[in-house]
Amino acid sequence: MADKPTMTTSAGAPVSDNQNSITAGERGPVLLQDYQLIEKLAHQNRERIPERVVHAKGWGAHGVLKITGDISKYTCAKALQPGVETPMLARFSTVAGEQGAADAERDVRGFALKFYTEDGNWDLVGNNTPVFFVRDPLKFPDFIHTQKRHPRTNLRSPTAMWDFWSLSPESLHQVTILMSDRGLPVAPMFMNGYGSHTYSFWNEKGERFWVKFHFKTMQGHKHYTNAEAEEVVGKTRESYQEELYGAIDRGEFPKWKVQVQIMPEADAEKTAYNPFDLTKVWPHADYPPIDIGVMELNRNPDNYFSEIENAAFSPSNIVPGIGHSPDKMLQARVFSYADAHRYRLGTHYETIPVNQPKCPVHHYHRDGEMNTFGGIKTGNPDAYYEPNSFGGPVEKHAVKEPPLKISGDADRYNHRIGNDDYGQPRALFNLFDEGQKNRLFSNIAAAMGGVPGEIVERQLAHFDKIHPDYGNGVRKALKEAHGYEPNAVPVTGKTPQQAAE
Ligand code: NDP
Repeated sequence: MADKPTMTTSAGAPVSDNQNSITAGERGPVLLQDYQLIEKLAHQNRERIPERVVHAKGWGAHGVLKITGDISKYTCAKALQPGVETPMLARFSTVAGEQGAADAERDVRGFALKFYTEDGNWDLVGNNTPVFFVRDPLKFPDFIHTQKRHPRTNLRSPTAMWDFWSLSPESLHQVTILMSDRGLPVAPMFMNGYGSHTYSFWNEKGERFWVKFHFKTMQGHKHYTNAEAEEVVGKTRESYQEELYGAIDRGEFPKWKVQVQIMPEADAEKTAYNPFDLTKVWPHADYPPIDIGVMELNRNPDNYFSEIENAAFSPSNIVPGIGHSPDKMLQARVFSYADAHRYRLGTHYETIPVNQPKCPVHHYHRDGEMNTFGGIKTGNPDAYYEPNSFGGPVEKHAVKEPPLKISGDADRYNHRIGNDDYGQPRALFNLFDEGQKNRLFSNIAAAMGGVPGEIVERQLAHFDKIHPDYGNGVRKALKEAHGYEPNAVPVTGKTPQQAAE
């Protein structure tokens, strides 16, 4: 048998005994000088780091993005040129549940991707839905508070959720997707992913195009009904981890067809909807999806904590050829995600191996907690400021992004005035067959249990505006589930059951 390596302290000294603490006599107390005991306990106390405020429960794997289509006329991004293969990391997640939450819960799924390109890391931090509940980042913390625990009861609050949604009709599109079949996928490989925001491409001529990213599951869509999910959760809380880890372990590598929708820059002034509104899609008939390649996940992490819990995805990570857009939510996330990582993982979170670019990195940031990259990344100790005469790294004008042509007076524009919040949910509702519609109605009714009648009625009025069949379908399902009477005059503070009495 090969010699086993000697166990050492974290300072590298050999450990003589890892079974017995140092005690004063065989039956006496332990001594403070048993530093290895203290070190072990101290490490254990520090094993957890703050969980993500949202998207705490996640599952991930490594893979590759292979580009087969030719979109070089839209973007000079090296990772998106024909034939290029880029290593990548994916992390999927639920939004609301804590780290120990069950996987098979009805919730939007995060679909976060990090592409290690030769021009640096490009992160696409999307969801399994093409839209979101709010379009203005000022509402994001309020929305998330309604999804998390009530401060007094420490329970999730359907009242808070429906109160917020019914007062925020821009949420209708996402609420309809969440309550539809696609709101409860069987596992990450059976759902689509979307960049969700509008980003931009720019080409070598400096022309800009607006772009939406789509990742279409090649395993087919698979969903649980609420009843099926209840059964699954009763048996295992880790069904996504089991499915994703198991499939990759067996060599059944999940794949997604990668598509983009391209909008010429000037069209943004003309579309009937705001193309930078995160509650809207671009209809395929107007901007047809273009196939550009395939994303495959083919390697499980060796260490979940190091490679998935420590993974830091941020829409701030873009590379030459890819730009942002005026999408307000995107602009807030550009700040907010990187800031969340600084808080959760530390200032130098991008030096954690899973977050490190696979290309050379040269910058002038210095010092700080856990600065493990050897001081300053300029290659010369005298080059610690810029400009300098000591051969330090310099900017490269050739990768300058073309100007973002935006003009307007700074103001707080009311995003609810003149914005059609009903047309696109209607287009989706019209795609559903009878069975899908009925499951939508019953899922909504189930989620409304205990919600005061006034809030229920406010929400029903929105569903009516999407389609009378939508509102009436939910009314009928509410009656079946809770005995709720459609014509009952709602009273503030009454639950549907109370309002029905
Ligand atoms: P299309 O019929 O051209 O496109 C339909 C899109 O809807 C496809 O991407 C399809 O995804 C998706 N879809 C089909 N069935 C469902 C379902 N039951 N739940 C959720 N998504 C579904 O229509 P439009 O482009 O005009 O869009 C109509 C509506 O479809 C939109 O209002 C939006 O709600 C929804 N949608 C649109 C998307 C877009 O980018 N235009 C993207 C996703 C949804 P798949 O190909 O995977 O089946």
